[in-house]
Amino acid sequence: MNEIDEIYQDAEEYRDHLATVDKKGKRVWLYPKKPSGWFYSARNLASVVMLALLFGMPFIKVNGEPLLLFNILERKFIIFSIVFTPQDLHLFALAMVTFMVFIVLFTVVFGRLFCGWVCPQTIFMEMVFRKIEYWIDGDASQQRKLAAAPWTSGKIIKRASKYAIFYTIALLIANTFLSYIIGVEAVEKIATDPIGQHLGGFMAMLIFAGIFFFVFAYMREQVCVVVCPYGRLQSVLLVPDSIVVHYDYVRGEPRGRIQKMPLAVGHLPLADQQPIANSQSPAANPGDCIDCKLCVQVCPTGIDIRNGTQLECVNCTACMDACDGVMEKVNRPKGLIRYDSDKGIREGKRKIFTARVWAYSAVLAVLIAVQVFLFATRSEVETVILRTPGQLFQRVDDTHLSNLYNYEVINKTGKDIDGIEFRLRPGDGRIKLVGEHATNVPKQGLLKGVFFVEMPENQLDGRKTKIFIEVWSKGKKVDEATTNFLGPVK
Ligand code: SF4
Ligand code: SF4
Repeated sequence: MNEIDEIYQDAEEYRDHLATVDKKGKRVWLYPKKPSGWFYSARNLASVVMLALLFGMPFIKVNGEPLLLFNILERKFIIFSIVFTPQDLHLFALAMVTFMVFIVLFTVVFGRLFCGWVCPQTIFMEMVFRKIEYWIDGDASQQRKLAAAPWTSGKIIKRASKYAIFYTIALLIANTFLSYIIGVEAVEKIATDPIGQHLGGFMAMLIFAGIFFFVFAYMREQVCVVVCPYGRLQSVLLVPDSIVVHYDYVRGEPRGRIQKMPLAVGHLPLADQQPIANSQSPAANPGDCIDCKLCVQVCPTGIDIRNGTQLECVNCTACMDACDGVMEKVNRPKGLIRYDSDKGIREGKRKIFTARVWAYSAVLAVLIAVQVFLFATRSEVETVILRTPGQLFQRVDDTHLSNLYNYEVINKTGKDIDGIEFRLRPGDGRIKLVGEHATNVPKQGLLKGVFFVEMPENQLDGRKTKIFIEVWSKGKKVDEATTNFLGPVK
Protein backbone atom coordinates (compact mmCIF):
# COMPACT_ATOMS: atom_id res chain seq x y z
CA MET A 1 0.00 0.00 0.00
CA ASN A 2 1.53 3.34 -0.97
CA GLU A 3 1.46 6.51 1.10
CA ILE A 4 -1.54 8.01 -0.69
CA ASP A 5 -3.58 4.82 -0.23
CA GLU A 6 -2.72 4.85 3.45
CA ILE A 7 -3.82 8.48 3.84
CA TYR A 8 -7.03 7.71 1.96
CA GLN A 9 -7.72 4.64 4.09
CA ASP A 10 -7.08 6.71 7.18
CA ALA A 11 -9.54 9.39 6.08
CA GLU A 12 -12.22 6.83 5.31
CA GLU A 13 -11.56 4.73 8.43
CA TYR A 14 -14.63 6.13 10.22
CA ARG A 15 -16.85 4.38 7.69
CA ASP A 16 -15.73 0.96 8.91
CA HIS A 17 -17.36 1.15 12.33
CA LEU A 18 -20.18 2.74 14.25
CA ALA A 19 -19.39 5.53 16.67
CA THR A 20 -21.53 3.76 19.26
CA VAL A 21 -19.81 0.35 19.07
CA ASP A 22 -16.30 -0.28 20.40
CA LYS A 23 -13.69 -2.63 18.96
CA LYS A 24 -15.04 -5.53 21.00
CA GLY A 25 -18.54 -4.93 19.63
CA LYS A 26 -19.84 -3.46 22.88
CA ARG A 27 -22.22 -0.52 22.92
CA VAL A 28 -20.54 2.81 23.64
CA TRP A 29 -22.99 4.80 25.75
CA LEU A 30 -23.17 8.40 24.60
CA TYR A 31 -23.22 11.44 26.84
CA PRO A 32 -23.88 14.32 24.43
CA LYS A 33 -23.21 17.77 25.78
CA LYS A 34 -26.27 19.97 26.21
CA PRO A 35 -26.70 22.04 23.04
CA SER A 36 -27.62 25.70 22.97
CA GLY A 37 -27.96 28.29 20.26
CA TRP A 38 -30.32 29.70 17.65
CA PHE A 39 -31.20 26.39 16.02
CA TYR A 40 -31.75 24.65 19.34
CA SER A 41 -34.16 27.41 20.41
CA ALA A 42 -35.99 27.18 17.08
CA ARG A 43 -36.21 23.40 17.42
CA ASN A 44 -37.53 23.83 20.95
CA LEU A 45 -40.33 25.97 19.58
CA ALA A 46 -41.05 23.56 16.73
CA SER A 47 -41.13 20.60 19.11
CA VAL A 48 -43.63 22.36 21.42
CA VAL A 49 -45.94 22.76 18.41
CA MET A 50 -45.39 19.15 17.30
CA LEU A 51 -46.00 17.76 20.79
CA ALA A 52 -49.13 19.88 21.24
CA LEU A 53 -50.43 18.50 17.93
CA LEU A 54 -49.50 14.91 18.75
CA PHE A 55 -51.12 14.91 22.19
CA GLY A 56 -54.01 17.20 21.26
CA MET A 57 -55.24 15.71 18.01
CA PRO A 58 -57.03 12.66 19.49
CA PHE A 59 -59.27 15.09 21.43
CA ILE A 60 -60.19 17.24 18.41
CA LYS A 61 -63.48 16.24 16.80
CA VAL A 62 -65.10 17.53 13.64
CA ASN A 63 -68.75 16.52 13.13
CA GLY A 64 -68.33 14.05 15.97
CA GLU A 65 -65.39 12.28 14.32
CA PRO A 66 -61.76 12.45 15.47
CA LEU A 67 -59.25 14.12 13.17
CA LEU A 68 -57.23 10.93 12.81
CA LEU A 69 -58.03 7.31 13.63
CA PHE A 70 -56.35 4.15 12.37
CA ASN A 71 -58.47 1.41 13.85
CA ILE A 72 -56.90 -1.64 12.25
CA LEU A 73 -58.90 -4.00 14.49
CA GLU A 74 -62.28 -2.69 13.28
CA ARG A 75 -60.97 -1.75 9.83
CA LYS A 76 -62.04 1.82 10.30
CA PHE A 77 -59.84 4.71 9.23
CA ILE A 78 -60.48 8.41 9.66
CA ILE A 79 -58.26 11.05 8.12
CA PHE A 80 -59.13 14.71 8.74
CA SER A 81 -62.50 13.49 10.04
CA ILE A 82 -63.34 11.73 6.76
CA VAL A 83 -64.22 8.08 7.26
CA PHE A 84 -62.50 5.52 5.04
CA THR A 85 -63.53 1.88 4.93
CA PRO A 86 -61.78 -1.21 3.51
CA GLN A 87 -63.61 -0.41 0.24
CA ASP A 88 -61.30 2.62 -0.03
CA LEU A 89 -58.22 0.42 -0.01
CA HIS A 90 -57.20 1.63 -3.47
CA LEU A 91 -57.11 5.21 -2.12
CA PHE A 92 -54.88 4.09 0.75
CA ALA A 93 -52.56 2.16 -1.55
CA LEU A 94 -52.22 5.15 -3.86
CA ALA A 95 -51.74 7.49 -0.88
CA MET A 96 -48.89 5.26 0.31
CA VAL A 97 -47.21 5.36 -3.10
CA THR A 98 -47.69 9.16 -3.25
CA PHE A 99 -46.23 9.50 0.23
CA MET A 100 -43.20 7.39 -0.72
CA VAL A 101 -42.52 9.53 -3.80
CA PHE A 102 -42.90 12.65 -1.65
CA ILE A 103 -40.36 11.26 0.84
CA VAL A 104 -37.94 10.48 -1.97
CA LEU A 105 -38.32 13.98 -3.42
CA PHE A 106 -38.04 15.67 -0.03
CA THR A 107 -34.93 13.65 0.85
CA VAL A 108 -33.23 14.37 -2.47
CA VAL A 109 -33.69 18.09 -1.81
CA PHE A 110 -33.41 18.40 1.98
CA GLY A 111 -31.75 15.19 3.16
CA ARG A 112 -32.73 14.16 6.65
CA LEU A 113 -34.27 17.51 7.63
CA PHE A 114 -37.44 15.68 8.72
CA CYS A 115 -35.49 13.69 11.32
CA GLY A 116 -34.16 16.75 13.09
CA TRP A 117 -37.31 18.84 13.15
CA VAL A 118 -40.37 16.62 12.89
CA CYS A 119 -39.60 12.96 13.66
CA PRO A 120 -41.30 11.95 16.96
CA GLN A 121 -38.28 9.81 17.89
CA THR A 122 -35.89 12.81 17.77
CA ILE A 123 -38.39 15.17 19.36
CA PHE A 124 -39.11 12.87 22.29
CA MET A 125 -35.48 11.82 22.71
CA GLU A 126 -33.80 15.21 22.44
CA MET A 127 -36.54 17.58 23.57
CA VAL A 128 -38.23 15.55 26.30
CA PHE A 129 -36.24 12.62 27.69
CA ARG A 130 -32.77 14.14 27.22
CA LYS A 131 -33.88 17.36 28.92
CA ILE A 132 -35.15 15.41 31.93
CA GLU A 133 -31.77 13.65 32.03
CA TYR A 134 -29.89 16.99 31.98
CA TRP A 135 -32.20 18.23 34.72
CA ILE A 136 -31.68 15.22 37.02
CA ASP A 137 -28.17 13.98 36.13
CA GLY A 138 -26.58 17.21 34.91
CA ASP A 139 -24.61 17.87 31.71
CA ALA A 140 -22.41 15.34 29.91
CA SER A 141 -19.43 15.36 32.31
CA GLN A 142 -21.68 15.01 35.38
CA GLN A 143 -23.57 12.18 33.71
CA ARG A 144 -20.30 10.37 33.03
CA LYS A 145 -19.22 10.82 36.64
CA LEU A 146 -22.56 9.59 37.92
CA ALA A 147 -22.45 6.50 35.71
CA ALA A 148 -18.99 5.60 37.04
CA ALA A 149 -19.85 6.38 40.67
CA PRO A 150 -20.73 3.62 43.18
CA TRP A 151 -24.39 2.98 44.02
CA THR A 152 -24.83 5.47 46.83
CA SER A 153 -28.28 6.54 48.07
CA GLY A 154 -27.94 9.76 46.02
CA LYS A 155 -27.32 7.81 42.81
CA ILE A 156 -30.20 5.40 43.55
CA ILE A 157 -32.60 8.33 44.12
CA LYS A 158 -31.48 10.00 40.89
CA ARG A 159 -31.80 6.83 38.83
CA ALA A 160 -35.15 5.85 40.40
CA SER A 161 -36.68 9.30 39.92
CA LYS A 162 -35.37 9.57 36.34
CA TYR A 163 -36.75 6.19 35.29
CA ALA A 164 -40.05 6.79 37.13
CA ILE A 165 -40.52 10.01 35.14
CA PHE A 166 -39.41 8.23 31.96
CA TYR A 167 -41.98 5.47 32.49
CA THR A 168 -44.77 7.96 33.24
CA ILE A 169 -44.07 9.80 29.99
CA ALA A 170 -43.80 6.47 28.13
CA LEU A 171 -47.25 5.59 29.53
CA LEU A 172 -48.60 8.91 28.30
CA ILE A 173 -47.13 8.30 24.85
CA ALA A 174 -48.58 4.76 24.83
CA ASN A 175 -52.05 6.10 25.72
CA THR A 176 -51.80 8.70 22.96
CA PHE A 177 -50.60 6.07 20.51
CA LEU A 178 -53.58 3.87 21.45
CA SER A 179 -55.92 6.85 21.09
CA TYR A 180 -54.96 7.01 17.43
CA ILE A 181 -55.86 3.33 17.07
CA ILE A 182 -58.97 2.76 19.19
CA GLY A 183 -60.07 6.32 19.93
CA VAL A 184 -59.68 8.49 22.99
CA GLU A 185 -62.98 7.34 24.56
CA ALA A 186 -61.93 3.69 24.47
CA VAL A 187 -58.57 4.56 26.05
CA GLU A 188 -60.35 6.53 28.76
CA LYS A 189 -62.50 3.50 29.53
CA ILE A 190 -59.44 1.23 29.77
CA ALA A 191 -57.80 3.71 32.12
CA THR A 192 -60.82 4.29 34.37
CA ASP A 193 -62.91 1.07 34.35
CA PRO A 194 -61.93 -1.92 36.52
CA ILE A 195 -58.95 -3.69 34.93
CA GLY A 196 -60.87 -6.96 34.46
CA GLN A 197 -63.31 -5.30 32.05
CA HIS A 198 -60.59 -4.41 29.51
CA LEU A 199 -57.77 -6.80 30.30
CA GLY A 200 -56.57 -6.94 26.67
CA GLY A 201 -56.55 -3.16 26.32
CA PHE A 202 -54.83 -2.74 29.67
CA MET A 203 -52.12 -5.22 28.69
CA ALA A 204 -51.68 -3.44 25.34
CA MET A 205 -51.24 -0.16 27.21
CA LEU A 206 -48.56 -1.62 29.48
CA ILE A 207 -46.75 -3.34 26.61
CA PHE A 208 -46.69 -0.16 24.50
CA ALA A 209 -45.50 1.86 27.52
CA GLY A 210 -42.75 -0.74 28.10
CA ILE A 211 -41.65 -0.50 24.46
CA PHE A 212 -41.52 3.30 24.54
CA PHE A 213 -39.62 3.21 27.85
CA PHE A 214 -37.10 0.76 26.36
CA VAL A 215 -36.70 2.93 23.25
CA PHE A 216 -36.04 6.18 25.11
CA ALA A 217 -34.20 4.86 28.17
CA TYR A 218 -32.00 2.30 26.42
CA MET A 219 -32.20 2.16 22.60
CA ARG A 220 -31.98 5.92 22.04
CA GLU A 221 -29.81 6.88 19.04
CA GLN A 222 -29.66 3.21 17.98
CA VAL A 223 -33.22 3.59 16.65
CA CYS A 224 -32.00 6.24 14.18
CA VAL A 225 -28.66 4.61 13.49
CA VAL A 226 -29.61 0.95 13.18
CA VAL A 227 -33.39 0.43 13.15
CA CYS A 228 -34.95 3.30 11.17
CA PRO A 229 -35.44 2.34 7.50
CA TYR A 230 -35.55 6.01 6.49
CA GLY A 231 -32.01 6.42 7.80
CA ARG A 232 -30.87 3.48 5.66
CA LEU A 233 -32.50 5.03 2.60
CA GLN A 234 -30.24 8.08 2.81
CA SER A 235 -27.37 6.25 1.16
CA VAL A 236 -29.35 5.79 -2.04
CA LEU A 237 -31.31 9.04 -2.02
CA LEU A 238 -28.78 11.72 -1.20
CA VAL A 239 -27.05 13.46 -4.11
CA PRO A 240 -24.30 16.11 -4.13
CA ASP A 241 -27.01 18.79 -4.43
CA SER A 242 -28.96 17.64 -1.33
CA ILE A 243 -29.06 20.20 1.45
CA VAL A 244 -27.87 18.57 4.67
CA VAL A 245 -25.97 19.54 7.79
CA HIS A 246 -22.53 19.96 6.31
CA TYR A 247 -19.06 20.87 7.52
CA ASP A 248 -17.40 23.41 5.24
CA TYR A 249 -14.14 21.56 4.73
CA VAL A 250 -12.99 24.13 2.16
CA ARG A 251 -13.10 26.83 4.80
CA GLY A 252 -12.34 24.66 7.82
CA GLU A 253 -9.29 22.67 6.67
CA PRO A 254 -6.53 22.31 7.52
CA ARG A 255 -7.87 22.25 11.03
CA GLY A 256 -5.80 22.88 14.10
CA ARG A 257 -5.45 25.06 17.13
CA ILE A 258 -5.15 28.65 16.02
CA GLN A 259 -4.61 32.05 17.47
CA LYS A 260 -7.66 34.10 17.97
CA MET A 261 -8.28 36.69 15.28
CA PRO A 262 -8.43 40.36 16.29
CA LEU A 263 -11.86 41.36 17.52
CA ALA A 264 -14.04 44.17 16.35
CA VAL A 265 -14.32 46.68 19.16
CA GLY A 266 -17.19 45.82 21.48
CA HIS A 267 -18.01 42.62 19.59
CA LEU A 268 -17.39 40.25 22.49
CA PRO A 269 -17.01 40.72 26.25
CA LEU A 270 -13.41 41.21 27.37
CA ALA A 271 -13.37 37.93 29.29
CA ASP A 272 -13.92 36.08 26.03
CA GLN A 273 -11.07 37.81 24.28
CA GLN A 274 -8.46 35.29 25.41
CA PRO A 275 -6.80 33.16 22.78
CA ILE A 276 -8.24 29.65 22.82
CA ALA A 277 -4.88 28.17 21.89
CA ASN A 278 -1.84 29.18 20.03
CA SER A 279 0.17 26.09 19.44
CA GLN A 280 0.54 26.95 15.78
CA SER A 281 0.47 30.19 13.90
CA PRO A 282 -2.56 31.27 11.83
CA ALA A 283 -0.33 31.23 8.77
CA ALA A 284 0.46 27.56 9.31
CA ASN A 285 -3.21 26.75 9.86
CA PRO A 286 -5.35 28.91 7.65
CA GLY A 287 -8.45 26.70 8.17
CA ASP A 288 -11.23 28.01 10.41
CA CYS A 289 -11.77 24.76 12.34
CA ILE A 290 -9.85 25.04 15.59
CA ASP A 291 -10.34 21.32 16.29
CA CYS A 292 -12.08 22.01 19.60
CA LYS A 293 -14.32 18.95 18.97
CA LEU A 294 -17.35 20.69 20.47
CA CYS A 295 -19.35 19.60 17.42
CA VAL A 296 -18.54 15.98 18.28
CA GLN A 297 -19.30 16.41 21.96
CA VAL A 298 -22.84 17.67 21.35
CA CYS A 299 -23.71 15.07 18.71
CA PRO A 300 -26.46 12.73 19.97
CA THR A 301 -25.34 10.01 17.55
CA GLY A 302 -21.66 10.32 18.47
CA ILE A 303 -20.28 11.16 15.02
CA ASP A 304 -17.79 13.70 13.78
CA ILE A 305 -19.58 15.66 11.05
CA ARG A 306 -16.19 16.87 9.81
CA ASN A 307 -15.72 13.41 8.31
CA GLY A 308 -18.52 14.21 5.87
CA THR A 309 -22.18 13.28 5.50
CA GLN A 310 -22.92 10.09 7.39
CA LEU A 311 -25.95 7.84 7.73
CA GLU A 312 -25.94 8.37 11.49
CA CYS A 313 -26.52 12.13 11.19
CA VAL A 314 -30.11 12.98 12.09
CA ASN A 315 -29.66 16.65 11.11
CA CYS A 316 -30.40 17.75 14.66
CA THR A 317 -28.35 20.98 14.18
CA ALA A 318 -26.61 20.64 17.59
CA CYS A 319 -23.18 20.74 15.91
CA MET A 320 -24.19 23.84 13.94
CA ASP A 321 -25.06 25.67 17.13
CA ALA A 322 -21.91 24.47 18.90
CA CYS A 323 -19.64 25.53 16.05
CA ASP A 324 -21.40 28.88 15.60
CA GLY A 325 -20.69 29.56 19.27
CA VAL A 326 -17.01 28.74 18.75
CA MET A 327 -16.77 30.83 15.59
CA GLU A 328 -18.26 33.77 17.41
CA LYS A 329 -15.64 33.41 20.13
CA VAL A 330 -12.72 33.26 17.69
CA ASN A 331 -14.18 36.09 15.66
CA ARG A 332 -14.75 34.08 12.49
CA PRO A 333 -17.92 34.01 10.41
CA LYS A 334 -20.59 31.61 11.60
CA GLY A 335 -21.71 28.72 9.45
CA LEU A 336 -18.59 26.57 9.35
CA ILE A 337 -21.11 23.78 9.91
CA ARG A 338 -24.33 24.71 8.17
CA TYR A 339 -27.18 23.59 5.95
CA ASP A 340 -25.58 23.25 2.55
CA SER A 341 -24.98 20.81 -0.26
CA ASP A 342 -21.70 19.13 -1.05
CA LYS A 343 -21.63 21.03 -4.34
CA GLY A 344 -22.36 24.25 -2.46
CA ILE A 345 -19.34 23.68 -0.23
CA ARG A 346 -17.03 22.45 -2.99
CA GLU A 347 -17.96 24.76 -5.85
CA GLY A 348 -20.07 27.44 -4.18
CA LYS A 349 -22.99 26.41 -6.44
CA ARG A 350 -26.36 25.51 -4.98
CA LYS A 351 -29.10 24.10 -7.15
CA ILE A 352 -32.36 22.77 -5.79
CA PHE A 353 -34.27 22.18 -9.03
CA THR A 354 -32.07 19.61 -10.68
CA ALA A 355 -33.32 17.31 -13.46
CA ARG A 356 -33.87 14.58 -10.87
CA VAL A 357 -35.98 16.90 -8.70
CA TRP A 358 -38.10 17.92 -11.71
CA ALA A 359 -38.61 14.26 -12.63
CA TYR A 360 -39.70 13.27 -9.11
CA SER A 361 -41.91 16.39 -8.92
CA ALA A 362 -43.64 15.44 -12.17
CA VAL A 363 -44.36 11.91 -10.92
CA LEU A 364 -45.60 13.33 -7.62
CA ALA A 365 -47.87 15.86 -9.38
CA VAL A 366 -49.46 13.09 -11.48
CA LEU A 367 -50.01 10.91 -8.41
CA ILE A 368 -51.55 13.80 -6.47
CA ALA A 369 -53.85 14.63 -9.41
CA VAL A 370 -55.05 11.02 -9.63
CA GLN A 371 -55.52 10.92 -5.85
CA VAL A 372 -57.55 14.14 -5.88
CA PHE A 373 -59.72 12.85 -8.74
CA LEU A 374 -60.38 9.53 -7.01
CA PHE A 375 -61.13 11.28 -3.76
CA ALA A 376 -63.47 13.83 -5.37
CA THR A 377 -65.42 11.08 -7.13
CA ARG A 378 -65.50 8.79 -4.12
CA SER A 379 -69.08 7.99 -3.02
CA GLU A 380 -70.13 8.19 0.59
CA VAL A 381 -72.28 5.09 0.16
CA GLU A 382 -70.86 1.93 -1.33
CA THR A 383 -73.11 -0.87 -2.52
CA VAL A 384 -71.98 -4.41 -3.27
CA ILE A 385 -74.54 -6.69 -4.96
CA LEU A 386 -73.49 -10.24 -5.80
CA ARG A 387 -75.48 -13.16 -7.10
CA THR A 388 -75.92 -15.77 -4.37
CA PRO A 389 -73.31 -18.46 -5.09
CA GLY A 390 -74.58 -21.85 -6.26
CA GLN A 391 -77.96 -20.52 -7.45
CA LEU A 392 -79.18 -20.71 -11.06
CA PHE A 393 -82.13 -18.75 -12.47
CA GLN A 394 -85.68 -19.75 -11.51
CA ARG A 395 -88.83 -19.47 -13.58
CA VAL A 396 -91.41 -17.25 -11.86
CA ASP A 397 -94.17 -17.45 -14.49
CA ASP A 398 -94.52 -17.78 -18.24
CA THR A 399 -92.70 -14.51 -18.91
CA HIS A 400 -90.33 -13.86 -15.97
CA LEU A 401 -87.17 -15.42 -14.59
CA SER A 402 -85.58 -14.62 -11.22
CA ASN A 403 -82.07 -14.54 -9.71
CA LEU A 404 -81.21 -14.38 -6.01
CA TYR A 405 -78.75 -11.70 -4.81
CA ASN A 406 -76.96 -10.75 -1.58
CA TYR A 407 -76.52 -7.06 -1.00
CA GLU A 408 -74.42 -4.89 1.31
CA VAL A 409 -74.87 -1.15 1.60
CA ILE A 410 -71.92 0.52 3.36
CA ASN A 411 -72.41 3.92 4.93
CA LYS A 412 -69.07 5.78 5.08
CA THR A 413 -70.54 8.95 6.54
CA GLY A 414 -70.88 10.06 10.14
CA LYS A 415 -74.72 10.09 9.92
CA ASP A 416 -77.36 7.35 9.71
CA ILE A 417 -78.96 6.89 6.29
CA ASP A 418 -82.67 6.07 6.44
CA GLY A 419 -85.26 4.81 3.99
CA ILE A 420 -83.00 2.72 1.79
CA GLU A 421 -84.73 1.29 -1.28
CA PHE A 422 -83.52 -0.40 -4.46
CA ARG A 423 -84.65 0.41 -7.99
CA LEU A 424 -83.90 -1.64 -11.05
CA ARG A 425 -82.75 0.15 -14.19
CA PRO A 426 -83.83 -0.08 -16.92
CA GLY A 427 -87.15 -1.46 -17.64
CA ASP A 428 -89.67 -3.88 -16.69
CA GLY A 429 -87.87 -6.00 -14.14
CA ARG A 430 -88.66 -5.84 -10.42
CA ILE A 431 -86.90 -6.35 -7.09
CA LYS A 432 -88.45 -8.44 -4.32
CA LEU A 433 -86.82 -8.23 -0.91
CA VAL A 434 -86.64 -11.48 1.02
CA GLY A 435 -87.82 -11.79 4.65
CA GLU A 436 -87.54 -9.04 7.27
CA HIS A 437 -85.47 -6.19 5.97
CA ALA A 438 -84.24 -3.03 7.61
CA THR A 439 -84.02 0.21 5.66
CA ASN A 440 -81.59 2.06 7.93
CA VAL A 441 -77.80 2.02 7.52
CA PRO A 442 -76.13 3.20 10.73
CA LYS A 443 -73.25 5.68 10.47
CA GLN A 444 -70.05 3.91 9.40
CA GLY A 445 -72.07 0.69 9.43
CA LEU A 446 -73.60 -1.57 6.84
CA LEU A 447 -76.95 -2.97 5.83
CA LYS A 448 -77.03 -6.55 4.63
CA GLY A 449 -79.81 -8.52 3.01
CA VAL A 450 -81.10 -10.70 0.20
CA PHE A 451 -83.45 -9.96 -2.70
CA PHE A 452 -84.75 -11.50 -5.89
CA VAL A 453 -84.53 -9.70 -9.21
CA GLU A 454 -87.25 -10.75 -11.65
CA MET A 455 -86.67 -9.99 -15.31
CA PRO A 456 -88.87 -10.50 -18.38
CA GLU A 457 -87.28 -13.30 -20.34
CA ASN A 458 -87.58 -11.42 -23.63
CA GLN A 459 -85.34 -8.64 -22.27
CA LEU A 460 -82.41 -10.94 -21.52
CA ASP A 461 -79.35 -10.89 -23.74
CA GLY A 462 -78.47 -14.49 -23.17
CA ARG A 463 -76.69 -16.30 -20.41
CA LYS A 464 -75.53 -13.07 -18.77
CA THR A 465 -77.37 -9.75 -18.88
CA LYS A 466 -75.91 -6.68 -17.23
CA ILE A 467 -78.36 -4.97 -14.87
CA PHE A 468 -78.07 -1.73 -12.90
CA ILE A 469 -79.52 -1.36 -9.43
CA GLU A 470 -79.90 2.12 -7.97
CA VAL A 471 -79.88 2.74 -4.24
CA TRP A 472 -82.19 5.51 -3.07
CA SER A 473 -82.71 7.17 0.29
CA LYS A 474 -85.63 9.50 0.93
CA GLY A 475 -86.12 10.29 -2.74
CA LYS A 476 -82.41 10.80 -3.45
CA LYS A 477 -80.19 8.44 -5.37
CA VAL A 478 -77.16 7.65 -3.20
CA ASP A 479 -75.39 4.93 -5.18
CA GLU A 480 -75.62 2.54 -8.06
CA ALA A 481 -74.32 -1.02 -8.45
CA THR A 482 -73.88 -3.20 -11.50
CA THR A 483 -74.37 -6.94 -11.53
CA ASN A 484 -75.21 -9.78 -13.92
CA PHE A 485 -78.52 -11.56 -14.37
CA LEU A 486 -78.17 -15.24 -15.26
CA GLY A 487 -80.61 -16.59 -17.87
CA PRO A 488 -80.92 -19.50 -20.26
CA VAL A 489 -78.52 -19.77 -23.22
CA LYS A 490 -80.18 -18.34 -26.34
S1 SF4 B 1 -17.01 22.97 16.64
FE1 SF4 B 1 -16.33 23.95 14.75
S2 SF4 B 1 -14.30 24.62 15.25
FE2 SF4 B 1 -14.79 23.12 16.80
S3 SF4 B 1 -14.06 21.20 15.96
FE3 SF4 B 1 -16.16 21.38 15.31
S4 SF4 B 1 -16.01 22.31 13.29
FE4 SF4 B 1 -14.05 22.65 14.26
S1 SF4 C 1 -23.61 15.52 13.08
FE1 SF4 C 1 -24.57 17.37 13.85
S2 SF4 C 1 -26.60 17.42 12.92
FE2 SF4 C 1 -25.78 15.35 12.65
S3 SF4 C 1 -26.59 14.23 14.39
FE3 SF4 C 1 -24.57 14.97 15.00
S4 SF4 C 1 -24.95 16.92 15.99
FE4 SF4 C 1 -26.81 16.38 14.89
